[in-house]
Amino acid sequence: MSEKFDYFVVGQGIAGTLLAFELRRRNKRVLVIDKVHPASSTRVAAGLYNPIVYKTLEKSWLADQLVPAAHQAYEQLEVLTQAKFDYRMPIVKVFGSQEEYDFWEKRSKEDDYSPYLSAPCKASFSSFLEMPYGYGEIRQSGYVDTKTLLEAYRNHLTNQACLFPEKFSHQDLIINDNFVEYKGFRASRIVFCEGLGIVNNPFFNYLPMKPTKGEVLTVKSEDIGNERIINKRVFLIPLGDNQYRIGSNYGWVLDEIPTEAAKKEITEALGKFWTAPYEILNHEAGIRPTVRDRRPLLGQHPQLKNLYVFNGLGTKGIMLAPWLSAHFCDYLELGTEIVTEASIERYKKFFAPKSD
Ligand SMILES: Cc1cc2nc3c(=O)[nH]c(=O)nc-3n(C[C@H](O)[C@H](O)[C@H](O)COP(=O)(O)OP(=O)(O)OC[C@H]3O[C@@H](n4cnc5c(N)ncnc54)[C@H](O)[C@@H]3O)c2cc1C
Repeated sequence: MSEKFDYFVVGQGIAGTLLAFELRRRNKRVLVIDKVHPASSTRVAAGLYNPIVYKTLEKSWLADQLVPAAHQAYEQLEVLTQAKFDYRMPIVKVFGSQEEYDFWEKRSKEDDYSPYLSAPCKASFSSFLEMPYGYGEIRQSGYVDTKTLLEAYRNHLTNQACLFPEKFSHQDLIINDNFVEYKGFRASRIVFCEGLGIVNNPFFNYLPMKPTKGEVLTVKSEDIGNERIINKRVFLIPLGDNQYRIGSNYGWVLDEIPTEAAKKEITEALGKFWTAPYEILNHEAGIRPTVRDRRPLLGQHPQLKNLYVFNGLGTKGIMLAPWLSAHFCDYLELGTEIVTEASIERYKKFFAPKSD
């Protein structure tokens, strides 16, 4: 037996990255097993984190905990990897009517919401942006350049001899009472963070995923400033150098092929508020690991006690992964409870025990 670890982590998307980071911060020996898939959800993602639901102006689930945890973790990861990927900036919601303006004005004065919502403004801040009803700014938001983050942490893992850069084959996992073995390595526990790959995982594929396809464009255009993300049905993220990411949409044909229909849908929505000419540089598609009830999937296999899952981050992996990783590590290492909405206990009834 060559080397012993505390944990195998399968998958290095945002889930596996933040989980490995948190475990290593707690001095656990971790081997990450991941084969890069260029169209994986994290790599394609726009990377937005946003504490407010655009439509209803409610706080999103656990926002008060998730936002500070995300800021702290991404800051620490930037220091560790010496890379820049966290861009904090407000998200502008462009109002579609006077009612939206009035509702924002009222909500932004509530104690619970004033840290997250600016006072509304009547006039547009750019000649390329049409905002007849004005806009408001969501605070404590921003975006993570996910490709840079994944590559930076991957390099770090490689330098620490903690990365096994190959496809994980479930049938080669040897499961014992107190440890698991894989290709000559041994660990006390294994955590699967495979995103959509969970559908090929014989141990956890009983969990009810409802994946959704999404597409994003990268365009080059006029300078509208680099200080704000804009949203009106589609988002527009300034990347610098007059480049912007635009998206996304929801589709249910589960391939990773960019489509003309999605491009049309996104550019038409963009045309409703953005008047500058632009050139499309890139068009990507990926599949979000969304769950039937749109909550994460965390927990221990119902029968095999050293197998765990950390998945189901759906449409919000960037904001969820930091807090959930720390929360899951508390569960793994300190025996605390997983928050009910995210625990796989809720789907126990779907598990059919295999008889020998
Ligand atoms: C178009 C689009 C836009 C999005 N925009 C946002 C956004 O703005 N903000 C946000 O928060 N979220 C966004 N999302 C959702 C976000 O991408 C997901 O919540 C998140 O990336 C899921 O991360 P994950 O680590 O669980 O899965 P993944 O990113 O899919 O990572 C899984 C990893 O496991 C690896 N893997 C799987 N099986 C195996 C195996 N057998 N062996 C080895 N490796 C394996 C894969 O190659 C991959 O590297 C978007 C998604 C899409 C598609």
